[in-house]
Amino acid sequence: MVLLIVFGIDGIRSRRDLEEKDALLVDAQEAFVAKSQFMSVINHELRTPLASVKGAVSLINAGAVGEVPEGFRKMLDLAERNCDTLVSLVNDLLDAEKLDAGKMDFDFVKMELEGFIKDEIARHQPYADALGVNIEEARVDAGLAVEVDRKRLGQILSNLLSNAAKFSHSGGVIRVGAEKRDGQAVISVQDFGVGIPEEAQSKLFDRFYQVDSSSEREKGGTGLGLSIVNSIVAAHGGRIWVDSIEGKGSTFYVGLPLVP
Ligand code: ADP
Repeated sequence: MVLLIVFGIDGIRSRRDLEEKDALLVDAQEAFVAKSQFMSVINHELRTPLASVKGAVSLINAGAVGEVPEGFRKMLDLAERNCDTLVSLVNDLLDAEKLDAGKMDFDFVKMELEGFIKDEIARHQPYADALGVNIEEARVDAGLAVEVDRKRLGQILSNLLSNAAKFSHSGGVIRVGAEKRDGQAVISVQDFGVGIPEEAQSKLFDRFYQVDSSSEREKGGTGLGLSIVNSIVAAHGGRIWVDSIEGKGSTFYVGLPLVP
């Protein structure tokens, strides 16, 4: 009798559990579809017009319609910078969506890191200059060959270098290197800026995480960059990690498999 009651109650409980699980599954599917539709709207209705606004502002700024009075130039510069911020936010959102859905395409090619590091330093120096920061080449071992999507590895460096510049003090230095370690190629980006509190370091690669997420924070950003970098590094069979001391600076490391 007691057993019957127990089985009976269990039967009801498991049926209810199943119904609840079904309902949750339907909710999750609907949320997934809604998210895909939202991302499609972002892609078509936001990215395309944004690109044309940015194009028009850049053309006017470059003098395509004649001399721009000084007062207007400041406004146009601001508009262009804000367009860039929006474009990179939209691109980050779309990249995050692609990575979540396993739909990011990678064009893997064999490449040596020596030239790549030099190119990336030159590409990012103007951005660092604007913040009064200098990018230096640290130790770069010769002959480090990796199989990577060059554009995506450039995106990783862009993220790490722009963070390093953003969180450095004016007059500071960033050091970029690449060494062979434990059979891996390890790229390092070191800054001597504000550093990262120990309790925050394990959360840095979570989506939307920012150490200072208050609305009064000085630096812009969304907390998406490092989570995207983390997924792209993983797609290369690599690993990213950080060493940091608050108040002294941070070093981000990207370890990639070496190829013969
Ligand atoms: P975003 O820079 O857009 O906020 P990220 O994902 O690139 O997003 O970085 C997340 C957070 O990690 C930043 O908001 C910042 O708090 C911290 N961070 C990243 N890089 C550095 C760095 N080099 N020095 C200090 N803090 C950093």
